[in-house]
Amino acid sequence: MVSAKIYYDQDADLTVLDGKTIVFLGFGNQGAAQAQNLRDTGIPNDNIIIANREDSYAEDAKLKGFNVQHDFSKAAQVADVVFLLIPDQVQPRIFNEIFAPKLKDNVAICVASGYNVFFKLLKFKRSQDVVMVAPRMIGSSVRSLYQKGKGFPCFVSAEQDGTGNALKIALALSRGIGATKLGAISSSVYEETAMDLMAEQALWPNIIMLFREGFNVLKEAGCSDEALCYEMWMSKEPAEIFEAAADEGFVTQLKHHSTVSQYGQLSGALKLDGIAAREHFKNILYNQILNGKFTKEFSQIEADLEKDGLDNPVNQLYAKAEEMELAQAEARVRSRLADMLKQ
Ligand code: NDP
Repeated sequence: MVSAKIYYDQDADLTVLDGKTIVFLGFGNQGAAQAQNLRDTGIPNDNIIIANREDSYAEDAKLKGFNVQHDFSKAAQVADVVFLLIPDQVQPRIFNEIFAPKLKDNVAICVASGYNVFFKLLKFKRSQDVVMVAPRMIGSSVRSLYQKGKGFPCFVSAEQDGTGNALKIALALSRGIGATKLGAISSSVYEETAMDLMAEQALWPNIIMLFREGFNVLKEAGCSDEALCYEMWMSKEPAEIFEAAADEGFVTQLKHHSTVSQYGQLSGALKLDGIAAREHFKNILYNQILNGKFTKEFSQIEADLEKDGLDNPVNQLYAKAEEMELAQAEARVRSRLADMLKQ
């Protein structure tokens, strides 16, 4: 049995951050939330610098009272701690080329995702600390849960202990952003990357496929677009099921359903041996994720991800996904509903 250590507020000593200059590279989804939480925990505003190009994110940081530095090399020079919170695909270019050459030898670099560290896409000196503090939440929830005095699920790890203090710093940063209130789970960039990419490349693609095929079969059987969209997701029933699973238990939540439903779901699930799915998942994990195949493919399209329209490979995939009957039917239903609401 593998059970992880969980760190709480009392395990984290904020004084290890005393007098340190903390630079946030990026003030987006996570950056804005984590910087505000850290300041509200008591890290002086003068010790926090937001490194951001001169644009709306920088304006937002200024409006929120932060010191903003547009020159990344200047921000890097003074940093004792760096929160690396720009999108994963641009981190290697910006960090390796602009930030890393100017960083102090004993700086602590904190990532919120294991991806670039696990695949060794970032350049660190051996004397530097590399830690992961990875909230399992979107930034707006990281902020709103903190403001409500609640914590949020988060993974924490010390990946490279250049100074001998890496874990202490990781825990102090976790506490600073509000993660140890609920309990920060000891993890690693390996574990975080394997789970994250498996969910993204195996589990959710299968869920999308199952909805697509379920929709197609029921449509062929004569069900209407409206009934199908509402039955399958627009009623928010799937969201409620997952919420109840998180609150009460993955299996226990079934008890909220009718007896017909409970019997159908349980007997159906237990009849499926899952062998083909398990083989498919293993193939994705070992032959696409952990061997670096996906990362290599993704790094080849990195520059195209900033393009507009169909020159951007993600937009090409969206265009193809919109061709699914499920998506076409949903568009028709939503437009009919919008027309009705206008009347
Ligand atoms: P965002 O997309 O919200 O980041 C936006 C920030 O990055 C802005 O400050 C933006 O500033 C800056 N940025 C974007 N492109 C560039 C560039 N080319 N050069 C310099 N700065 C750039 O990122 P997230 O907050 O979503 O993700 C940050 C990290 O957090 C990632 O490692 C991600 O995996 C992790 N994470 C994200 C979660 C989420 O819910 N989004 C959840 C948990 C972890 P500007 O455009 O002005 O330069």
